[in-house]
Amino acid sequence: MKKRIFKNMVLLVGVTLLITFGSLFVICYQIVYEQMQNQIHSEAIYVENAINELSNEDDVLAYLNDLKKESKSRITYVSNDGTVLFDTVMESSTMENHGKRPEIADALANGYTFDVRLSDTISKQTYYYAVRLDSGCVVRIAYTSDSAIALFFNILPYICCVYIVVIIIMVSWVSSMTSKIVNPINNLDLKEPADDFEYKELIPLLARIRKQNEEQQRNEQIRREFTANVSHELKTPLTSISGYAEMIETGMVMEGDEKKFAGIIHKESLRLMNLVEDTIRLSKLDEKKIAIEKEDVNLLKVVEDVKNSIIPLANKNKVTFVSECGEVHIDAVELMMNELILNLCNNAVKYNRPNGQVTLRIFKEDEKVVIQVIDTGIGISKDNQDRIFERFYRVDKSHSRQTGGTGLGLAIVKHVVEYHNGDIAIDSELDKGTKITVTLV
Ligand code: ADP
Repeated sequence: MKKRIFKNMVLLVGVTLLITFGSLFVICYQIVYEQMQNQIHSEAIYVENAINELSNEDDVLAYLNDLKKESKSRITYVSNDGTVLFDTVMESSTMENHGKRPEIADALANGYTFDVRLSDTISKQTYYYAVRLDSGCVVRIAYTSDSAIALFFNILPYICCVYIVVIIIMVSWVSSMTSKIVNPINNLDLKEPADDFEYKELIPLLARIRKQNEEQQRNEQIRREFTANVSHELKTPLTSISGYAEMIETGMVMEGDEKKFAGIIHKESLRLMNLVEDTIRLSKLDEKKIAIEKEDVNLLKVVEDVKNSIIPLANKNKVTFVSECGEVHIDAVELMMNELILNLCNNAVKYNRPNGQVTLRIFKEDEKVVIQVIDTGIGISKDNQDRIFERFYRVDKSHSRQTGGTGLGLAIVKHVVEYHNGDIAIDSELDKGTKITVTLV
């Protein structure tokens, strides 16, 4: 990142300097050009007026001879046929006919002209101003100075010096700047990012990191609670199994009590098995990566299976079980549908009262499949309604344990619903009953 910022800054400063020097050069050259033009124009007018005042040729030549000493410009006096009559630099008789020189030809034709030509070496250029006199002759003022290219090469060393100084200043400035920019990011506490970070642009990212951290902490907490709960839930029946088994082994059981103790051991081992099975199921559901193939499931068939498992318990608890389900098909995992309906019905029977009723209704509404389990049982208070889907959460621990509950049933239900992208709603009133509605697409 530092390298990138540095590279871009160098590029930016380099381009800025280049544009600045380029435009400065063009502007300066333009100013010099205009000044030269004005200067030789004034000089030509001055000479023109002076010559026009003189009456004969000898006076003109004498005047021009005098000018030779004062003027820095080259002055050439040409007759109207192009013959050079006088020149401040060369002997006029040795000079060729100037009639075809562009500035002379132009002045003869149009009265005056301005021209600029590069010399043979291109390092010099000559400005010409030629003007036709009243006599028909032409006087030409010429001034030679450095050309634009020469000017450029003349100032190049200064440009290079400025460049080097600017680059040195910029390198130290940019490296301190990039450190200033990058250091706060490097020193960021990602575990607890501050709310008022100095770079406002990074606040949404930090908010995301904070949220992720919180989620991670929550998951970690759930995982720890889950492990603690599993150990506790496994230990309770195991303690009782090993305690009763030890009593039988050491002969501490009174005659006739063996059957009772064996019954307790059997019940506790069944609870243990339930717990292990539920835990395995949950951990399988947790591994969302393993996508289980969905298929066309006939819920009527599932209801029949559930009924076969639930009716013995319902009869034992003196609860009437009613099911209202037609031929409803759904794209789902059959085993999961079985677990979902069985767990809901199982709870509705377990947390019911003698002579109570459980109604299982499955129907289609707006292309959605609705599964409703309604009971006339003990109900769930509002406070507990949000928590009963947590793993191992039980409203009444002893009641749940007595009924062989593991506290994982509704956690499994929630997982199954999420797996099928459905919704679950609970409507319950203490001492009146509970209605749980699952909606699946
Ligand atoms: P458990 O194995 O204890 O039944 P669940 O996860 O199935 O575990 O249910 C969690 C808790 O929610 C139960 O312990 C019980 O207190 C409460 N509960 C679930 N269903 C009902 C219901 N239909 N009526 C009253 N309470 C219920």
